Amino acid sequence: MKLNKQNYYSNEADWQYMSVSQFKDFQKCEAAALAKLKEEWQPTSNPVALLVGNYVHSYFESNEAHEEFISENRNSILKRDGSERAEFIQATDMIEALEYDNFFNFVYQGQKELILTGSFLGTDWKARIDCFNEAKGYFVDLKTTRSLSQRYWSTKYRSYVSFVEEYGYVLQMGVYKALLEQVYDKEVTPYIFAVTKESPPDIAGIEIHPTRFEFELALLEKELPRILAVKYGEEKPTMCGKCEYCRGHKQLRGFIEIEDLLNR
Ligand SMILES: [Zn+2]
Repeated sequence: MKLNKQNYYSNEADWQYMSVSQFKDFQKCEAAALAKLKEEWQPTSNPVALLVGNYVHSYFESNEAHEEFISENRNSILKRDGSERAEFIQATDMIEALEYDNFFNFVYQGQKELILTGSFLGTDWKARIDCFNEAKGYFVDLKTTRSLSQRYWSTKYRSYVSFVEEYGYVLQMGVYKALLEQVYDKEVTPYIFAVTKESPPDIAGIEIHPTRFEFELALLEKELPRILAVKYGEEKPTMCGKCEYCRGHKQLRGFIEIEDLLNR
């Protein structure tokens, strides 16, 4: 199956290829990830939050992509009186925060929304890269987030982490780097440009110390075989017991001690 903009997010593509978001779904909860993949269950999503992210992304892809996105989602973006909903006025502020920044414009040059496939750790992967500068050997991913300095408690790292670690962006950048280096046969550096949903939005260009990838990719290598076995039906999925899917499919098997409430 050859991937393009139309079929990249299709269920068929998700079966044929592993992706970072699919891997993260399985890491969070195997049962929920598999039910979603089999189209037996859909997580409740916040469509407006998702649309705001895509609104910002499409703007920096191209004029045509942005116009197409707006015309396809006109009913979600506009209120009945024809004016934009508050979330999209905010999204325009986010776009402008980056657009009027010289450093961002200097760096954000290259091929936009590059679709990439490749073999990594024994399985086929798909990736979609916001901006790839082949000549200078780097790529950029745009991230929208609540706040740059928000702390999250991470059980994986056993410490407080930033949104970059919390949302698995180090892993994502590490896999994209590996795929790009394989396909283009040269060293590639990842960067993140983050823009916040604050008013006015905050912005940052973020680099990633290379040692961070070692930890993430070692964990990926360790966990991937089990996840692939669950995906292709060789192993039974485990329920995490606390996510949206698991709460909706819960059967008590007895008692837990108070301590277990925080250690799940
Ligand atoms: Zn679960």
